[in-house]
Amino acid sequence: MLPAGVIADHGRHPGFRTGPAACYILAAMKSSQITIPQPDDWHVHLRDDAMLSTVVPDTARHFARAIVMPNLKPAITHSAAAAEYRARILAALPRGSTFEPLMVCYLTDHTDATDLSAGAAQGIFTAAKLYPAGATTNSAAGVTDVTKLDNVFEAMSVSQVPLLVHGEVVDDDIDVFDREAVFIERILAPLRARHPQLRIVLEHITTAEAVAYVAAADPDLLAATITPHHLSVNRNAMFQGGLRPHMYCLPIVKRERHRRALESAACSGDSHYFLGTDSAPHPRADKESACGCAGIYNSPTALATYLEVFERANALDNFSAFAAENGARFYRLPLNETLVTYTRSQTPLETAPVSESGVVIFQPPFALHWQELKRDV
Ligand SMILES: [Zn+2]
Repeated sequence: MLPAGVIADHGRHPGFRTGPAACYILAAMKSSQITIPQPDDWHVHLRDDAMLSTVVPDTARHFARAIVMPNLKPAITHSAAAAEYRARILAALPRGSTFEPLMVCYLTDHTDATDLSAGAAQGIFTAAKLYPAGATTNSAAGVTDVTKLDNVFEAMSVSQVPLLVHGEVVDDDIDVFDREAVFIERILAPLRARHPQLRIVLEHITTAEAVAYVAAADPDLLAATITPHHLSVNRNAMFQGGLRPHMYCLPIVKRERHRRALESAACSGDSHYFLGTDSAPHPRADKESACGCAGIYNSPTALATYLEVFERANALDNFSAFAAENGARFYRLPLNETLVTYTRSQTPLETAPVSESGVVIFQPPFALHWQELKRDV
């Protein structure tokens, strides 16, 4: 649903008259413009220090707010550290930016439930993040056994602080492509049974199993973010003509049938699913290495990629729900008042292959045509 006054102008042209011939022409035209509330990014890695100052403008340029992941070294495990990190993000913003970072507590085996609840009450923490120990970048301090945190989850249920989940088991005997489905069965389902009022976001889902599991839940209790890369590539992309380190992320991209399930979920406009880029920059040398880091940097191309995916699925009418409405509703935040109009160019956009600081930027396997035309504040 679009707010009153928002125009979803899908290819209509003021010169057209009604009638069968005009209808035929309209149907044949490509959509050209869409106006929606400014999108938010409900899952992003902004890093720290020099990397923070180079990547934060890319997120702030496109998104009004973002859920900022806390997997720094050391991780953001306390409200005081989160407040300091937020100040560093704000200091790194371009002049005049109104971008709002929303901070997350990194859960460990020793999380202080009192500090977490107090931080949430003070508006420092918007959510808390569960990284199974060893699951991804800087997750060594993550949780070794979720049952150790039952008191924390109980406090989060009471204070209604959402739990954000990196949903993978990391046991050696589980195939890397099965980690998410096994996590749902072994960890997430029992966790939800123990804490039925805990509000959870299953982050960056990658499988048909995750889509189905989330769809069956109350959307106020369980939702999921979906990345532009998981919507636009399958696992072949990692091996096309050689090993492609810039297509490597965790959870790893899966088979085409899973990509299609994600596309159907995102493009449905269903309130369970919303935008989260999981943009995760690494220095190029750390990706192009004998043991390359997991993570895809997509902030500069994310919105154009999402728009292309929705257009190709003939689902632009649902783009506002996915990009600008469902996430805000889950987090119980107001929709952004700024309206952004995106336009489709006839010719493919030219996008930079690397950022100014040399981080390789995600390019989907199709041309991009959508870009911002204007904003109405
Ligand atoms: Zn992430």
